[in-house]
Amino acid sequence: MGQFFSKITEFRTELAAWFQCHGRTLPWRVTSDPYPILVSELMLQQTQVATVIRYYHRWLERFPTLHDLAEADGSEVLLAWQGLGYYNRARNLHKCAKIIVFERNEKFPSAVDELLRLPGIGRYTAGAIASFAFDQPAPIVDTNIERVLTRILDLQEPVDQTDVGRVLWDFASKYVQSTRPRLLNSALMELGATICLPRKPLCVICPVRSFCAAKDPESLPKKRGRQRIEKKIENHFLALKEGRILLEQSLGKRWHGLWTLPSLAQDNGDFPFLSLSYPITRYVVRLNVFLSEPPATVGLGQVWHRLELLDSVPMPSPHRRAVRLAAGRIGLSAAHGER
Ligand code: SF4
Repeated sequence: MGQFFSKITEFRTELAAWFQCHGRTLPWRVTSDPYPILVSELMLQQTQVATVIRYYHRWLERFPTLHDLAEADGSEVLLAWQGLGYYNRARNLHKCAKIIVFERNEKFPSAVDELLRLPGIGRYTAGAIASFAFDQPAPIVDTNIERVLTRILDLQEPVDQTDVGRVLWDFASKYVQSTRPRLLNSALMELGATICLPRKPLCVICPVRSFCAAKDPESLPKKRGRQRIEKKIENHFLALKEGRILLEQSLGKRWHGLWTLPSLAQDNGDFPFLSLSYPITRYVVRLNVFLSEPPATVGLGQVWHRLELLDSVPMPSPHRRAVRLAAGRIGLSAAHGER
């Protein structure tokens, strides 16, 4: 690495010049307002750029300022996030807005150590906000940058080893100590997103190929064994009564505050009315839905919702999809669509 840093100024110059000509104009790159940058960073944590762009604009129309978000109701926030999944990000974004507006008198933190105290903000996100919004020389290492750096340094050790992680953060930290941190971090990310691709990296047009030590770039980064995908079954029931559907407000960590079909402790041996699958972290979940008579009494956290108002109820996508499928099968005109 020491050898590489003798050429760091040329490396930065080449990469920055390439980015200024070829970098994509993404909506959160044309602002230095920390609020939209925070929104984009939390959305991008688990979601592709193309999907985030749509949600990002919609979000800022709905909550144009940090203040608007801080004052919004929790269910309004979850509803606006609906379709992006991983709802903890929405809850954390809401909490961040409340802390900054009500506890910090709207003063947005600009230093990495202050940003790290906000909920849902880890080392990468803190560095991204500090550099993109405040032009601070804060390092960032996301999966794109991790891939670029392991290839440039030709690191053969698995990147999920602590000491390799430390090497990458050290590199990113030295790299960004310059007069244009915002530009430099954006350029490194863009290289990973558009040129140094996981499969078939475009080395022939790479602006920093003369600095790159990778002999077999596609084999990098190396990882220790991947986690096994596990199967899971969740059973729920669908009960209707006088134009209403029974839903249950989740108290679980994953979907806290969202409305789902009521759960069945165990399946009763019948065939489900419908089944669908969805992925979540390291699981593939089979969601089984059984038709049920309306229960005489409703359980804790359960409420009958009017079918025609279902669009204004925050629901996780798999459950909204199940209701939509059921609607198609049993002809419920009001119980329509997933957004
Ligand atoms: S030369 Fe190839 S492997 Fe090296 S940084 Fe560029 S795209 Fe990645």
